[in-house]
Amino acid sequence: MESYQYRQRLTDVMATLFEKIIAGEIPATIVHKDDRVIAFRDISPQAPVHVLIVPNKPIPTVNDVSDDDERTLGHMFVVARDIARVEGIAEDGFRLIINCNKHGGQVVYHLHMHLLGGRALGPMLAGGKHG
Ligand code: AMP
Repeated sequence: MESYQYRQRLTDVMATLFEKIIAGEIPATIVHKDDRVIAFRDISPQAPVHVLIVPNKPIPTVNDVSDDDERTLGHMFVVARDIARVEGIAEDGFRLIINCNKHGGQVVYHLHMHLLGGRALGPMLAGGKHG
């Protein structure tokens, strides 16, 4: 079983990954950047368009969101709308996903929204009713 310390260390490493992209310390294909959010292409795309929309503030998970984050979180949707238009997937449609913790399949502990599109994405979850 994973120890608490091991998990904490993993969380710290995966959190700093996106912080380093935000700081420009590691490369990413950035499609949008402003004073609240950054958006860049996922390194391992699951669809023809797969962009991550990430708040500049390092909020680890949805569980850690505070009332003060409301504007930034709303802004993520506005940015998602604009990127979908620019990428040409708005009309056909797309999917927005935010994973949280272990059951949500979260890997990077810096809150982020996946914008996926460019093909029919199929049922919402693999495995059908209750997997
Ligand atoms: P999640 O499972 O919701 O935490 O998603 C994390 C996402 O980050 C995955 O889809 C990864 O492919 C993506 N990812 C990991 N490292 C990078 C990176 N250096 N640049 C872009 N995307 C990344």
